[in-house]
Amino acid sequence: MKALVTGGAGFIGSHLVERLLEEKNEVVVLDDFSNGSPKNLRSVQAHRSLTVQKADVSDRKSIEPFFSGVDTVYHLAALADIVPSIQHPDAYFRSNVHGTFEVMECARQARVNRVLYAASSSCYGIPDRTPTSEESEIRPEYPYALTKFLGEQIVMHWGRVYKMNVNSLRFFNVYGPRARTHGTYGAVFKVFLPQKIHGASLTIVGDGTQTRDFTYVSDVIEAMLTVARSDLRNEILNVGSGRTVSVNTIVQLLGGGKTVHIPKRPGEPDCTFADISKIRRLTGWNPKVPIEEGVGILLKHLEDFKDLPVWTTDTIEKATEDWFRYLGKEE
Ligand code: NAD
Repeated sequence: MKALVTGGAGFIGSHLVERLLEEKNEVVVLDDFSNGSPKNLRSVQAHRSLTVQKADVSDRKSIEPFFSGVDTVYHLAALADIVPSIQHPDAYFRSNVHGTFEVMECARQARVNRVLYAASSSCYGIPDRTPTSEESEIRPEYPYALTKFLGEQIVMHWGRVYKMNVNSLRFFNVYGPRARTHGTYGAVFKVFLPQKIHGASLTIVGDGTQTRDFTYVSDVIEAMLTVARSDLRNEILNVGSGRTVSVNTIVQLLGGGKTVHIPKRPGEPDCTFADISKIRRLTGWNPKVPIEEGVGILLKHLEDFKDLPVWTTDTIEKATEDWFRYLGKEE
């Protein structure tokens, strides 16, 4: 089988590529390396069934030839940070919305058998209910969330109109080795781990009682492969860990140490927690890696995080200025 992975040099994409190669697929990666890196594919770079092509998914001409003969497209390419999406919404629309349109058009023209879209739980914004089901109201709080949701709409629309086999998986807080390693302020592990390595205080947002559904990357890969091999079509499915864990618990699992509290940010929920009953019922998939084990694995891969910025109260305040400015309540 030939698989095409957009964003395959990124965090989740590179884990997916390794797994697809292990299972004897031919794999083509399209990535513009805006955030991903060939280093993420180091373990498989010499594999004879792997082709890595530098290309921007929003540029039809440069991606079109690579769809020929592809069985499954895993569409993961996207710009994926909150603050830059507030500062540069145009780039986010180009990559995440227009890029998704181009990927769907290329997949349609090449008669690809199936497309899987990496959607985001950020579409639920601050949900009324947790665990949050796929039926919950869509409330994107910032341009990243909006562009990922619009991408999902394109994928599902192409499924309906052009009778393509498409499915969308809404990931909740994915973590694991190689977690996105560019320098932007963002996901909690890439803030805490460099702080831990360098003996700096862990910067806890608010009082740390807020909880997140942290999903280990291998569980996400397994969910994608399970859906790709199933008969499902035109489904939107949450992918989470089955639990929600407080930031204070994460601090403890990382071994505790010095901490400092920083202001809570606007537009963020107190709890993210996926209702995963739909994917369980339809595919039998179940998350396998509990947070205690996942954090243990991360602690063995600290070198992945050692070159990242060591955030402090001051640098975070500066980096999140636009977050507070635009998403904060109006006076
Ligand atoms: P990542 O930044 O590591 O990977 C995204 C990859 O896409 C990068 O390699 C980047 O270079 C590439 N890319 C960006 N714009 C591109 C373009 N225009 N053309 C070609 N390549 C482009 O992020 P990730 O965490 O691995 O996320 C992968 C996907 O999963 C994204 O679509 C993201 O929105 C989605 N997702 C991630 C999470 C999470 O917690 N990590 C949660 C929900 C959804």
